[in-house]
Amino acid sequence: MRTPMAANSGQSRPVQILVVEDDETIGRHLNTGLLSNGYAPSWSRTGSGALAEATQSAFDVLLLDLGLPDMDGLDVARVLRARFPDLLILILTARTEDIDVIAGLDAGADDYLVKPFSLSVLLARLRAHLRRRPIASPAQEPIRLGDLVVDITARRCSVHGRDVELRPKEFELLALLARHAGKAVSRETLMAEVWDENWFGSTKTLDVTMTGLRRRLGDAAAPSSRLPDITTLRGHGYRLELG
Ligand code: CA
Repeated sequence: MRTPMAANSGQSRPVQILVVEDDETIGRHLNTGLLSNGYAPSWSRTGSGALAEATQSAFDVLLLDLGLPDMDGLDVARVLRARFPDLLILILTARTEDIDVIAGLDAGADDYLVKPFSLSVLLARLRAHLRRRPIASPAQEPIRLGDLVVDITARRCSVHGRDVELRPKEFELLALLARHAGKAVSRETLMAEVWDENWFGSTKTLDVTMTGLRRRLGDAAAPSSRLPDITTLRGHGYRLELG
């Protein structure tokens, strides 16, 4: 078995994962499972313990339970996201309400898993995320669509020259649609390219991300703005086009 290595440090070392979970059974299961799959996990049972650990050593991934004994997991996500922009944050949640998923993503998480989940699903999700970061792509000219500019190389989106803050997946979704502007892109393609090619689960995460993307672009627009629309193609996918 190959050991998963952190690629972006220039040196090969196992991927460091901070597991934040107060449930003994789940925590031990995660810790053992990650260890036996070549990762280097560190297990913290509290939010404050996790924050302390994160200042001591560099982690690549944060696996974060939301219901912690001492503080809200969302606050842990916010603090660590602000401190470590490159940290991959996966939320582990028993909360299945959309509002909690959205709050988690807004707090800076990259993805979430709803409990109970299997270790193999978690490992597959980790592999998919780690494969994609850092996103290696040749320099590309920024894509201009009316007042919207998508600069894939710089990972920047702007409207009227003003940066629009997008979550990582929102940006990747927009970038993919912008690269195919005027053409239909299927939900399957979006799920495969932006998430994992082996995704057989719910595509609700696509809908949640699309809602967020539309909202942020809408918020950035002025009445006079000429922005492309993201048209929903029922039963197929989406098309980004300048009306
Ligand atoms: Ca818990």
